[in-house]
Amino acid sequence: MKLKVLGTQSPYNTPNHHCPGFLITEGQTNIMLDCGSGSHSVLNFPHDLQNLSVILSHLHRDHYNDIYNLQYASFVFHNQKRIERPISIYMPKTPSRISTDIMSEKDSFARYRFINEKTSLKLGKMHLYFCQTDHPVETYAIKVCSGDKTIVYTSDTSFSAKSKLAEFAQGADLLICESSLLKEHGFPEINSHLTAYQAGVIAKEAQVKGLLLTHFWPEESVQKYVLEAKKIFPHVASAKEGQIIDLPMAKEFRKEDMR
Ligand SMILES: [Zn+2]
Ligand SMILES: [Zn+2]
Repeated sequence: MKLKVLGTQSPYNTPNHHCPGFLITEGQTNIMLDCGSGSHSVLNFPHDLQNLSVILSHLHRDHYNDIYNLQYASFVFHNQKRIERPISIYMPKTPSRISTDIMSEKDSFARYRFINEKTSLKLGKMHLYFCQTDHPVETYAIKVCSGDKTIVYTSDTSFSAKSKLAEFAQGADLLICESSLLKEHGFPEINSHLTAYQAGVIAKEAQVKGLLLTHFWPEESVQKYVLEAKKIFPHVASAKEGQIIDLPMAKEFRKEDMR
């Protein structure tokens, strides 16, 4: 399994920094986790649209805005006979106003399916599982397993889902965890997002091999998030647009630990 980082920032994108998106590839199968503003600009068109499944973890703008561009691209490339199979779009049913809007897009070469906690998918050699987090809209953490390798993406969550997420991510090779906040900002412990320290607590409790922080505030130094998480968990790196991580974990990730 290979992970490519497409977007690490929220709530808005800036040059070279996009809203949430991750591409996981195994063989010929591509899975895109979230589709935030600008994230599609790191994709390789039309190649990455072949055998592509997009999983929208939740229907907040910063996680799905680019789905419309992707749908339109699928439509154009299909008309040009450059992609053969429709892209698959998986998403929560609610807010239904938004899922209905996405599914009603006419200029699109896509098929749709709703996800919930009971959903399990087999896409190529990868198996996917879902765990509902605590967030203002229906939101799912996503586990992607291939052979003995596992990547877990928390999506957005409150720390109130800590135990559930730690169990879901238990022993994962890589935990991609949102860290929207910093402890130094004085946020209450229970918020609709995590601090970097709380991401570290979940990684420690889940005994994951590596923690990749993401969902950064655009005006804040990324290094601050890494330092805060390191106070509780040692194997931390920050996600960066264009970064590629091969599982088993690349040496670069370990080097990052030292920064
Ligand atoms: Zn959200
Ligand atoms: Zn978000």
